[in-house]
Amino acid sequence: MNESFRDRPSAEGGLQAPTRHPLPWRSAEFWDRDALEAELYRVFDICHGCRRCVSLCHAFPTLFDLVDASPTMELDAVAKSDYAKVVEQCYLCDLCYQTKCPYVPPHEWNVDFPHLMLRAKAQAFRRGEVSAQHRRLTDTTRIGRLASIPVVAETVNAINRSPTMRKAVRAIMGVHPDARVPEYHHPTARRRLRKQAVDVHAQPAGPTRGRVALFVTCYGNHNMPQVVEDLVAVFRHNGISVRLLEREQCCGMPKLELGDLDCIERYAQTNLPVLAQAVREGWDITAPIPSCVLMFRQEIPLLFPESSDAQAVRAAIFDPFEYLMHRHKAGLLNTEFKQPLGKVAYHAPCHQRVQNIGPKTRELLSLIPGTQIEGIERCSGHDGTYGVRDATYERAMKIARPVVSRIRQVQADHISSDCPMAGEHLAHGVDRARHAVHPISLLRRAYGI
Ligand code: SF4
Ligand code: SF4
Repeated sequence: MNESFRDRPSAEGGLQAPTRHPLPWRSAEFWDRDALEAELYRVFDICHGCRRCVSLCHAFPTLFDLVDASPTMELDAVAKSDYAKVVEQCYLCDLCYQTKCPYVPPHEWNVDFPHLMLRAKAQAFRRGEVSAQHRRLTDTTRIGRLASIPVVAETVNAINRSPTMRKAVRAIMGVHPDARVPEYHHPTARRRLRKQAVDVHAQPAGPTRGRVALFVTCYGNHNMPQVVEDLVAVFRHNGISVRLLEREQCCGMPKLELGDLDCIERYAQTNLPVLAQAVREGWDITAPIPSCVLMFRQEIPLLFPESSDAQAVRAAIFDPFEYLMHRHKAGLLNTEFKQPLGKVAYHAPCHQRVQNIGPKTRELLSLIPGTQIEGIERCSGHDGTYGVRDATYERAMKIARPVVSRIRQVQADHISSDCPMAGEHLAHGVDRARHAVHPISLLRRAYGI
């Protein structure tokens, strides 16, 4: 029988500020299956004795059900082969680490549940245990390249709208036929913005330099070019210079969910020199999707701690609303709003909450007269591909149910989330015909520009 880590004397919960250790993914031990199993046992046993995270996602209930159904009702009687069932349910939202766990470093128990799940996913990926469908679905680079061809994009949209054709999509991509999938647009955001003149005027305020190089993101480029245009219009309306990066690649977040760390390295090798060069030339960075900001703010610096480019980008990347609120603090936000927004059911996505920047979107939208923000801080259930994959769609809709009920209850004029995929997932749950509006688009409407 394994010794229980919980039996050792220890302080109950850490009192010091949490720290995050770099991910030692180039070490031999990281890829050692026995070492991983021993660490899973150690951390799962701590979690079983704690159970604080039971309501966060389905990973923890899966673990606790396995323990409770075992003959001893302890982890020692749970089959090691069942550990993968827990890993499968983690979508790396990071909430357990950032908002719940008292045993994160520097506490001596050194619990980093999301990064342990990532290590397990990475080993499974290298063993070839990830389905071809899941790999295809996270290949935003290839999908984006194909979708850049107008006729392909139109065909994909037509297929996605056809219930009959969705059966084929289910077989090839593993997408549940009822899941809402994004539309592809032409021209793309980068094409729309490429021709626009860039004003390089800049007025610094607090940590912001007043000049922003925009990481458009794959989703922003192909699936929501209007939102990217809205972001640029709002920033320029506030005296901030905005330009595109010379080129960009997927941030790597979809590959993180898969555990494909080698692919993330390839993407980082393309992105980091371009982003770091922009930072060195005096530009800050922003992106319209919290997950992509989080990738550069947290995961890439932890995967490549030796990279000075990664550290430079980490220090200069901002959430768009965080950026605008820094400007507001210095009296540089335009508060001449022309249109009230009414009641907004606003969902704060996990990947924005774990950036520890505070509720900046909510604070800014609350400045608009005639606007009532009904804030919701709870998992949307979307979480990357979790909300569309055949294997997890039903569970994702179940996770979304409390948020969907709350939105229905408040009878909001708008459903909004900084994460466009979470927003659409929730709107889909409320009413199959309803759509979400990104907060930056709401802000543009309020300005009347
Ligand atoms: S990172 Fe998120 S999904 Fe994964 S175990 Fe923690 S709370 Fe659950
Ligand atoms: S991750 Fe931390 S807070 Fe959550 S159940 Fe495990 S030990 Fe408890």
